[in-house]
Amino acid sequence: MTEYAGAIVDLDGTVWRGSELIDGARKGIEALREAGIEVVFVSNGTDIDRDAFDDQLAELGLPTDIEVITAASATAEYVADEHPDAEAFVVGQQPIAAELEAVGLTATDVRGTDDADNEGETANTGPADVVVAGREPDLSEDLLDDVLAAFDAETAFVATNTDRTHPTEGGEIIPGAGATVGAIQGMTGTEPTVVGKPESRMADTATESTGVDSAECLVIGDRLETDIEMGNDAGMTTVLVLTGASSEADIGEQGIEPDHVIDSLGEIGDVL
Ligand SMILES: [Mg+2]
Repeated sequence: MTEYAGAIVDLDGTVWRGSELIDGARKGIEALREAGIEVVFVSNGTDIDRDAFDDQLAELGLPTDIEVITAASATAEYVADEHPDAEAFVVGQQPIAAELEAVGLTATDVRGTDDADNEGETANTGPADVVVAGREPDLSEDLLDDVLAAFDAETAFVATNTDRTHPTEGGEIIPGAGATVGAIQGMTGTEPTVVGKPESRMADTATESTGVDSAECLVIGDRLETDIEMGNDAGMTTVLVLTGASSEADIGEQGIEPDHVIDSLGEIGDVL
């Protein structure tokens, strides 16, 4: 018998790297579920919609009946709770607007429409109730003009996450949501409410999904400043895997201490 009832498992760098399964990941997920642990996947990504996650899980032979929470879906839930009936202005990738609409909110994408004829034109609307920002690959002055017009004194500013960079499938490092959010914060002087890892709102969304108390919950991830920091702050048991962003040497340097360090998710049995 294990003392844990739930596990929040990061995806990129923990379960997969790009479209490739990380060695031992399947075995690790099986070990968690065989121990009767409720598993939920979490990702700060806002670039893939959750149906596509299911396809990727299936392709890699992983169970598809595990809930996936992304920074986009957690942000949509947060906005629905805190700003019901809000009209949101979205700066970021398409899945953010899709998740907001899925919880019944009105979302205007900064690019207006997906219509190819409209390419290059932005939405150009007036003040919004809420501006929601995530990673936006095409920050331009036109786009920032529209974002500026979306703010008045009452506008709330919500960020999916503030990751400084984002790893691509090929291992390249590109600007993350922090670049978009920082530009808007610098331009408007408005501090965002941040939802994604390491913020407690992401942990709350995940524990609500598993129905498990934080004290009985594991957080397993590859990045100290997001996965491990979130779990430590929430009073969860944290497990760093060495298959992604952070190394053992980073632990001392960053001063963020996981409860356990394992080579890969495949060794999670040692912690249970
Ligand atoms: Mg990760």
